[in-house]
Amino acid sequence: MHFKRFFKFKPNNNSLFIIFNDKKVLFDLEEKTFIFDEAYLNFENYDLEIIGIAEDEGKNIYAVDVTSSNFNYKEQGYKSLIDYDLRFILTSLSNNEINLIGRANQLLHWIKSNKYCGYCGSAKKFNDEEQALFCDCNKIMIYPSISPCVLALIQNGNQILLARNALFPEGLFSALAGFIEVSETAEETIEREIFEEVRLKVKNIKYFGSQSWPFPSQLMLAYTCEFDSGEIEVDGQEIVEAKWFDLNNLPNTPPNSTLSGRLINSCILDR
Ligand SMILES: [Zn+2]
Repeated sequence: MHFKRFFKFKPNNNSLFIIFNDKKVLFDLEEKTFIFDEAYLNFENYDLEIIGIAEDEGKNIYAVDVTSSNFNYKEQGYKSLIDYDLRFILTSLSNNEINLIGRANQLLHWIKSNKYCGYCGSAKKFNDEEQALFCDCNKIMIYPSISPCVLALIQNGNQILLARNALFPEGLFSALAGFIEVSETAEETIEREIFEEVRLKVKNIKYFGSQSWPFPSQLMLAYTCEFDSGEIEVDGQEIVEAKWFDLNNLPNTPPNSTLSGRLINSCILDR
């Protein structure tokens, strides 16, 4: 598979589609797929948000948003279409599938949020060579933007610090996380976020790995670090609970399909 961005859609009954409706992705229960063959879809009468995201074995793959169109599930060749919450479907997909569906979601978000020029208000155009959006008034190319975030796992001997975000269900704990501020390094973000969220100082920050996180456009960068000093004090807003957990007695943590899950489990395997 080759990732690329392109705008022009020419019906040829030889393309593939990933379809979003009201922030959910369509899935066919019978065929067990979220990638649909153009030959079995009825798109003709609709004015839709659409962008080419990849090419695979001579077939173009498009992401399309049918929200606020009159896309009719009953007029499609697929007979058991349902919409899935993206976060929910990701837990049951392979890494390659997650990358593709995430790319579809992110690039749709990109074209929808960049329809008009911020300088003059005209509609933006697509530059085929750069695979980017631009306006004639200043020719500045607008590429898809990604927001980098850090995940930080603090180790202290046989214990790790895990926290519960206010948005998490009761009993689920994970590593600390935060967005990288403009002009910050990832390591500076880790020191700042940890101090803001739990009032601890850390040292020996080491890179672990990364993962694209399409809600809507993050790149997660995971690090381990060691406890240096301080007493846990949660901010009570973003983080409602934070504790040291023994590695042989961990609470519920995110699954291994997520980078935070792999980061936490790596500590257990390292012992
Ligand atoms: Zn302009």
